[in-house]
Order: sequence, then C-alpha cells, then structure tokens
Amino acid sequence: MKIYSDPRLLSLGVVHGTTDRGAGNMRLAENTHKLFDALAIPEGRILRFKQIHSDTLVSVASAEEARALSNRPLQEADGWALTGRSYGAAILTADCVPLIIWDEKANAIGLAHCGWRGVAAGLPGKTARAVTEHGGKGHLSAWAGPHIQSCCFEVQQDVADKFPGCVLRKNGKLYVDLNKEIIRQLTAAGLKEENIRLPYYCTCGDKENFFSYRRDHTKDAMMTFVYKP
Ligand SMILES: [Zn+2]
Repeated sequence: MKIYSDPRLLSLGVVHGTTDRGAGNMRLAENTHKLFDALAIPEGRILRFKQIHSDTLVSVASAEEARALSNRPLQEADGWALTGRSYGAAILTADCVPLIIWDEKANAIGLAHCGWRGVAAGLPGKTARAVTEHGGKGHLSAWAGPHIQSCCFEVQQDVADKFPGCVLRKNGKLYVDLNKEIIRQLTAAGLKEENIRLPYYCTCGDKENFFSYRRDHTKDAMMTFVYKP
C-alpha cells in the first residue's frame, strides 16, 4: 500500500493522503479500520458523508459539532470545512478529484470530492472560501490526490461546453483538463498558483495503482482523509 500525500501538509502535523489500489476497496469497513489503525487515528474521529456529486459543503466549527455529526446518519454532501483538532474527514473517489485546502497552520482545513459536476458547480472555489470563513489565516494551499487527467477524460460536447478554455482536442475527440479549471477557481478565491499542487497521477491510465470507474465501471474506491491529532 502507498499513501499519496503532500509534504507541506505533513510538516504541519496533519495526517492525510489518498490510498492506492493496494489498500483495497475503501468502501469496506475492514479496509478503513485497517488504515486508521495503521495511522493511529482513534475510532470514530473521521467524519464521513453521502457523496452526491453536488457542491454541498458541511461546516464543522468545533470538536463538539464534529462529535454531534458523527452520531447522526450520514449527511448528503461532497465536502467538509473543519476547524480545530481531534476530528477529521474522509471521502471516496475513483477518478473524481480529492481536493484538500488548508491555511498557513492548517487550523482550518477543507476536503472536497470534486467530480466534473462538482468542479463545474464551483466546488473547488467554494471549498477555498469555506476555509477562509473557518478562520483560515495567511495564505491558503491546496493539493489534490490522484484523479483522472486530461489524457483519459474524454467527454461529449455537452460536458465540454461546461469547461470553456479547458478542453483539448485530439483526433477529433474532446478531453477536459479539470486541473486547469480547479486552478482558475482557486486563484479566483485568492490562492497563489505556486501554492496549488495537483500532481499528475492518472487513475484511469494506471490500472496497477488505482481504481477507476471510467476504466472498469468498478464500485471499488480509494480514500482521501485528513486528520489533525
Ligand atoms: Zn490518463
């Protein structure tokens, strides 16, 4: 198993990353338990939600709020903004963009599941603004775990039309560069481009390391998690 992570966020003491295929299908509780045990994340501290490809963000402003949420049925949402310590959040992806945004000391953190619908609806920018609203101080930084890249993200005209300036044409086919649109939204929300890192790992093009819905129509998923002890 390999966990993809960002050294800037690790240096702030935030346990985080995206799992690979070797960690197994993270929809299975046995696999998530194994992961959280290995990372010494206490039971019940990772908030989950029912992902619906929307731009809905859940706001968690304190450990008390997090505790209350963790005792309720899963809410429908595609992102979290968290303030404080002791609780974290996780999302599942298999091609969609798992995006983490944090402030200078990682006191305020946002985590979003950005499929193309979420990106088109403005979820990356909304997540950045939520981190600021959660008391984010100084410059914000962003990182994305492995997701589908423009090499494989072929679309029809109707989807291409939602991403002006981010469409590539190859052999008469249309491909969308989601990274480009994410950078556009994040810089519009005040991030400096040099603080945005979207490493080029393509989930669809790398079967050995990643699950991909587009490639295999699988229900298997990788997990992206953030937790500040
Ligand atoms: Zn690819």
